[in-house]
Amino acid sequence: MTAPRLTIDLGKVGHNARTLVDRLSARGIAVVGVTKAVLGLTEVAATLVDAGIATLGDSRIENLERLSRSEVAAATMLIRSPMVSQVDRVVTHADLSCNTEAEVLRALSGAAESAGRNHGVVLMVELGDLREGILPEDLEAVAELVLGLRNLDLRGIGTNLACQSGIVPDARNMTQLSDLADAVEARFGIHLDMVSGGNSANLSWALGPAPVGRINQLRLGESILLGCDPLDRSPIEGLQLDAFTLVGEVIESKLKPSLPTGTAAQASFGTPPRRVDRGPVRQAIVALGQQDTDPAGLTPPEGVTVLGASSDHLVLDAGQCDLRPGDEVTFGLTYGALVRAMTSPFVASDLRAGNAAE
Ligand SMILES: *Cc1c(COP(=O)(O)O)cnc(C)c1O
Repeated sequence: MTAPRLTIDLGKVGHNARTLVDRLSARGIAVVGVTKAVLGLTEVAATLVDAGIATLGDSRIENLERLSRSEVAAATMLIRSPMVSQVDRVVTHADLSCNTEAEVLRALSGAAESAGRNHGVVLMVELGDLREGILPEDLEAVAELVLGLRNLDLRGIGTNLACQSGIVPDARNMTQLSDLADAVEARFGIHLDMVSGGNSANLSWALGPAPVGRINQLRLGESILLGCDPLDRSPIEGLQLDAFTLVGEVIESKLKPSLPTGTAAQASFGTPPRRVDRGPVRQAIVALGQQDTDPAGLTPPEGVTVLGASSDHLVLDAGQCDLRPGDEVTFGLTYGALVRAMTSPFVASDLRAGNAAE
């Protein structure tokens, strides 16, 4: 089989999705399944829908186009603010989009009118993480604008935390979002279907003891795909952590000194790691590098250490492992390493129906 390749165990993805859907539905919260890390891969999307997810979210219109052309039956949500240059594609292929800018909303409404349809809008509010979002004091004015645009439907409000500044979703900012939903409804005499509290980083808050208030939606990617909590990357109880693995092939394996010889300057991707003299080591090279993944986000098999990586070479201390050219090595991945591997044209995908160990 070809290498490098990502092995995707759909059974484990489905198990994680169903587990989170069940836990959150007990608290009145629906899950938007976020597919951006897998570029909207149809098989993963179908697995999420089978697990009880009704809406799929993605940050890229290309991925939503792929989904809307597939057989997967789900509502679609663009979770990044649309580019003005893409509004025609957005109203055609997304049922909903997250928005923060008046210009974009006017352009979306115009595009929806030309297409003879209505487009759903979720207004994103800035609650401290300083990425996207309308300032809370400006929310009612933007809501009023949306309500005045005939081809837009104001479906809800939302926020996104823990992405740009690592701000933790907590009782304070979540109560603030609930209060803003109440205020918009009271001011305009409307009902907001969606109060979208955030991403996988919201799970400890959402499943904790505090009341969830008006929050009735979370947009989940990493927790479903990798089973971990992005706040500290700790495993979430009951979820599978290895639905995705990256397989690479060994192209060299030799006993080499642990210390380089000669005068040292910068290495291909910056300063080389400090090496310690441990005598000769079994050094193996895997045909995998920066062009395929984020090497710093790989977890090697037990007893094997990553010494460094350049564009195309991943250098390992194989320890006691007798790696030979042609042998395959399987790595765990962080979210960053997964995104890069999915996006690289050099990495194949190997989809498995798999079994979720329950
Ligand atoms: C990426 C993203 C998500 C999903 O985040 P995870 O941490 O993968 O759950 C949700 N909302 C927005 C706006 C995003 O950009």
